[in-house]
Amino acid sequence: MTNSTLLLPEMTEIWQQTLNWQPTQQQQQQFQQLYDLILEGNRQLNLTRITDPQEFWEKHLWDSLRGIAPQQKFISKFSENASVIDIGTGAGFPGVPIAITLPNGTITLVDSTRKKINFLEKLLTEINLKNANTVITRAEEIGHQNQHRQNYDVALIRAVGNASVCAEYVLPLLKQGGLAVIYRGNWTDEETTALQYVVKKLGGVIELIDKFTTPLSDSIRHCLYVRKIANTPDGFPRGVGIPTQKPL
Ligand code: SAH
Repeated sequence: MTNSTLLLPEMTEIWQQTLNWQPTQQQQQQFQQLYDLILEGNRQLNLTRITDPQEFWEKHLWDSLRGIAPQQKFISKFSENASVIDIGTGAGFPGVPIAITLPNGTITLVDSTRKKINFLEKLLTEINLKNANTVITRAEEIGHQNQHRQNYDVALIRAVGNASVCAEYVLPLLKQGGLAVIYRGNWTDEETTALQYVVKKLGGVIELIDKFTTPLSDSIRHCLYVRKIANTPDGFPRGVGIPTQKPL
């Protein structure tokens, strides 16, 4: 142990109660390594404001995994070699904790910032995560590349833009039958109505709006689950910058 190591809490009972799951010893070790490397990386890069061990556990680890476990059950496809993509992953959330948790899945981490992806490349090597890979690109571009479009079972997106922008980024990447998970804080019924119209254009349908509170600080969260049921028209995602300038 280095002199400055801060220990992450284990929270075994909370994992069990909230997700009906517990990390193995190896996964707990990888969570700790992830935390150490992010604290270290934070000295040079602006990776996250969340550095306190309890807060990191709640807002980065627990929150990331809660997204793939609606109603306390891990999305079943995850156990069988699911291909997962995380758009705008930043310092690796939610994609890296999910890669640690689901060794049989394949996780593609996408960000437009070279520095963040370089950091993640080193991190994946250091914590020996072989089921994750990275791509430096924009969502508006990867969504039109043959090897990525219509290629994923699950697409994750947290804190990248408003929900309609997020939907335009992720729906093109899903296979038909695939599931988008859009992580939100607050959410209203009016927003659901507006999003219904947007996802319809993109070939999706809102399957579930899951409202919950985080287990330590009782903060409100919503995860929006959008199922892809039809082909996304070729024009989506629109060109670089357009989804944010003119949300659908
Ligand atoms: N998902 C992470 C990071 C959120 S910050 C988390 O929840 O902690 C938003 C990240 O999205 C930044 O790293 C930014 O570089 C990236 N980003 C924003 N717009 C993007 C786009 N159009 N394509 C790819 N990455 C994008």
